[in-house]
Amino acid sequence: MGIHQRDSGVLELRDVVRTYQLGAEQVHALRGISLDIADNEYVAIMGPSGSGKSTLMNIIGCLDVPTSGTYSLGGEPVASKDESELAEIRNRMIGFVFQTFNLIPRADILHNVELPLIYGGIGRVERLERARTALEKVGLAERMRHRPNELSGGQRQRVAIARALVFEPSIILADEPTGNLDSKTGAEIMSLFDELHASGQTIILVTHEDMIASHASRTIRLRDGRVESDVASPVRNPPHGVELAGPAAHDIRSGGAA
Ligand code: ADP
Ligand code: MG
Repeated sequence: MGIHQRDSGVLELRDVVRTYQLGAEQVHALRGISLDIADNEYVAIMGPSGSGKSTLMNIIGCLDVPTSGTYSLGGEPVASKDESELAEIRNRMIGFVFQTFNLIPRADILHNVELPLIYGGIGRVERLERARTALEKVGLAERMRHRPNELSGGQRQRVAIARALVFEPSIILADEPTGNLDSKTGAEIMSLFDELHASGQTIILVTHEDMIASHASRTIRLRDGRVESDVASPVRNPPHGVELAGPAAHDIRSGGAA
């Protein structure tokens, strides 16, 4: 029996199919996806446009449900939940980050970050406290009273990440979070994700870029609504002295198919 009782964000998909009805036509966005993602994994989802990445993210984020197959989050099948339970799961377990930031232009960034807490029924004092803490985490506490259009693209995405963090979710879902940013700013956003991962967050992100995906420890490629490949990423910078060289490493190597 484990001693720890914290929320588990373990994901389990089994034969997940999502078919859209488009007039008389059926669009097979997902054709049977089975995968497990453990707590604190760092996963990149790649694949051509139209391969089902966003559909998969929507299902993982409980914004959409499978046409068939099962999805469990923290050991509980999502299909057994009603709409208000799903909203509660989304709030408590999942933080979303989008390519286009999705901030409210008229509101200052403190209010943008606070907004999910207002919908979540959290009182004013706690809201401000949590929103400030989240903005501190992304390095924007001193900009609280600025509006999104007074910030750079990278800063806007950091606001969106702060907003995703206010409920301290187990899982961050990011759909092309660097897609609207230049590569230097994208790299800054990725180091923020790296920090969040190091602090225990599960991160699942969609990207087209190998450089971005290389931050993750696992890459899942989709093609035509199916998993084409699912591999552990090579370690980017192995710490000195831990290259596969010792006797244990020899066992690992000889255990694999030659
Ligand atoms: P990706 O994010 O990999 O580009 P999507 O998951 O957005 O792919 O889309 C997968 C397929 O499902 C595409 O063929 C797309 O046109 C279709 N699709 C996505 N959303 C809808 C929808 N709401 N209605 C009909 N078809 C959709
Ligand atoms: Mg997409």
